[in-house]
Amino acid sequence: MQRVNKQSVNFYEFKELKVPHAFLGREYNFLSSLSRKELSLQYENVKKVMGVDKVALVNQIHSNQVKIVTKENYLESNASDGMLTNEKGIALATKVADCQAILLYDEKRQVIGNIHSGWKGTVDRILQTAITLMQDTYACEVKDIKVYFCPSICQDCFEVKEDVYLLFKETFLDIDLDQFVFYSKEKDRYFIDTVGINKELVLQEGILKENIIVSELCTKCNPTLFHSYRVDKENSGRNLAIICL
Ligand SMILES: [Zn+2]
Repeated sequence: MQRVNKQSVNFYEFKELKVPHAFLGREYNFLSSLSRKELSLQYENVKKVMGVDKVALVNQIHSNQVKIVTKENYLESNASDGMLTNEKGIALATKVADCQAILLYDEKRQVIGNIHSGWKGTVDRILQTAITLMQDTYACEVKDIKVYFCPSICQDCFEVKEDVYLLFKETFLDIDLDQFVFYSKEKDRYFIDTVGINKELVLQEGILKENIIVSELCTKCNPTLFHSYRVDKENSGRNLAIICL
């Protein structure tokens, strides 16, 4: 990840996939409570960064719903947490502050995806849903799909109480969950590596190890670079993860 300036727009450029993909961090705010004017200015910057005139967003609700985006439906704000497309000229964007944004790319079939996966989405296996949908909709082969985990909250910062831990425990009977959970007796809290869990799930799905790339940057540990819900609480802004063909 590299901080770049293009046409007076500062953003973090990724080089991991062979298509334009980026992250707009602390210098911007994509919170929908901003004024219409402020938000539209931010989205003008997004378009400049990506060199497109269309930005697709969904109404994120911590679900496992994934939308197939087309030029006809990209403006419809469906309640879902992931998007896939094989159409050029549409940037897929997800808003995150500590949650995972996961970018998908199949070079052979020219298909991209952008998935929002907080802990609820992780428990609901949205990433696996998206990968299955890539295969069913676009005939992607799992060995061709690359998975990029954008900056998100790290295990040391993702502290939860027993109720959340038990949800993970009930859900993930198919993986060795213990390797992704640390319990602090002193704090009586659990620390969960949600990126590690998603990584394990996609490996089981058949995604190749060399096709999984993880940003090592934590949004909470780097509050000058990124918005973090755990740092700013209710006042937190949102980072934007974007990708286009
Ligand atoms: Zn951290």
